[in-house]
Amino acid sequence: MTTTLITGGTVVTASGTQDADVLVEGEKIAMVLARQPGVHFSMTADKLIDATGMYVLPGGIDVHTHMEMPFGGTFSADTFETGTRAAAWGGTTTIIDFAVQAKGTSLLATLDKWHAKADGNCAIDYGFHMIVSDVNETTLKEMDACIAAGVNSFKMFMAYPGVFYATDGEILLAMQQASRSGATVMMHAENGIAIDQLVAQAIAAGRTDPVYHGLSRPPELEGEATSRAITLARVADCPLYIVHLSATQALAAVAEARDGGQNVFAETCPQYLFLSLDDLARPDFEGAKFVCSPPLRPKSHQDSLWRGLRTNDLSVVSTDHCPFCFKDQKELGRGDFSKIPNGIPGVEHRMDLLHAGVVAGQISLPRWVEVASTTPARMFGLYPRKGVIAAGSDADIVIYDPQARQTLSAATHHMNVDYSAYEGLELTGRVVTTLSRGFPVIDDGRYQGIASHGTFLARGLNQYLL
Ligand SMILES: [Zn+2]
Repeated sequence: MTTTLITGGTVVTASGTQDADVLVEGEKIAMVLARQPGVHFSMTADKLIDATGMYVLPGGIDVHTHMEMPFGGTFSADTFETGTRAAAWGGTTTIIDFAVQAKGTSLLATLDKWHAKADGNCAIDYGFHMIVSDVNETTLKEMDACIAAGVNSFKMFMAYPGVFYATDGEILLAMQQASRSGATVMMHAENGIAIDQLVAQAIAAGRTDPVYHGLSRPPELEGEATSRAITLARVADCPLYIVHLSATQALAAVAEARDGGQNVFAETCPQYLFLSLDDLARPDFEGAKFVCSPPLRPKSHQDSLWRGLRTNDLSVVSTDHCPFCFKDQKELGRGDFSKIPNGIPGVEHRMDLLHAGVVAGQISLPRWVEVASTTPARMFGLYPRKGVIAAGSDADIVIYDPQARQTLSAATHHMNVDYSAYEGLELTGRVVTTLSRGFPVIDDGRYQGIASHGTFLARGLNQYLL
């Protein structure tokens, strides 16, 4: 068994920081040894990593990615291979991607299909959520089989009528089914029926630029849908997880439900913390780079999202990584914003952007680890195998240099997409080494990963319930 000793670093976990050395044996963490003045251990290992001046973090867990996802006649540009490689560069060691049920197909066949895409192609470990887009008796029964197969979170959509949209009745049925098994329902909460009318009005009036994607999806309709999802979940007694929360109105609904003791949780994404409607309004169709749903909001929403992260009304930061190239993909929507594929690339930059929040004093160092790794692990049944630096846990470890400077750019990123939503953004902090189950995927700034290293994670139930 290969042993690795990480010395001299500051171990950061959700509960605090500690000057400690970490011994890895094979795929697991064997020991975390606090360093004390005057006390010297002598340990040997096959490989030594000097982490002096560095943070030693549990690997990031991004619970919301879309690799090679079909959308509007095209596919998101990252495969499982390129997407997990980019994730590792950015200090993420686990992704949970979405298997997408097409109407008229079974959940289990869908799961098989996604296994075939990911199997043997991932540089880091991965799991799946299931997108339920066709609620019927067979599908409802299959939800239990999905849980047995390690997939116990089911995503539904109040948006995208005619594609993924589910009626309130269908949502209630799926929530009742999930509730019987203890599974969590994830919700894309936007009122898609009303939005479709606003979109049609905008196009008919010749308002076709990307900024109208944002203006035709007002935050009130995210707030309304979030409230409605919360009410349905209360009636069904089902844990609810709101994905990619972007608006103050939606956050208020989540906070109220949580204050009332309901099992309601929410994530936000870096794009909602760092980008805004101003980016969607960039001239010459450049705004298309920033089209995602829910849309980027006016800057005034950002402060409340950071506050939500501090108060735990927002418990997780994921990326909703869904890259489409500007050329040939985003361009499908020139002259009609409603045809722009929805999604922003981000899997590589989540840890760095959140670290920028630490540097700016928005969140604390332990909170960074908590929202990026520990809570995602607990929320989706991976803890303590993942999400913590402790003896017995997987040796998913990131050595992070908090002083390094970097400039985000499409010229240097590793995602398979021809633009960066953060082009030119200068950040302090960067990943030096990423271990996945003890294996150096990124080794002192060099990619050493292999596509067959990552394994499927059969997940347990939500460990974060109130
Ligand atoms: Zn998504």
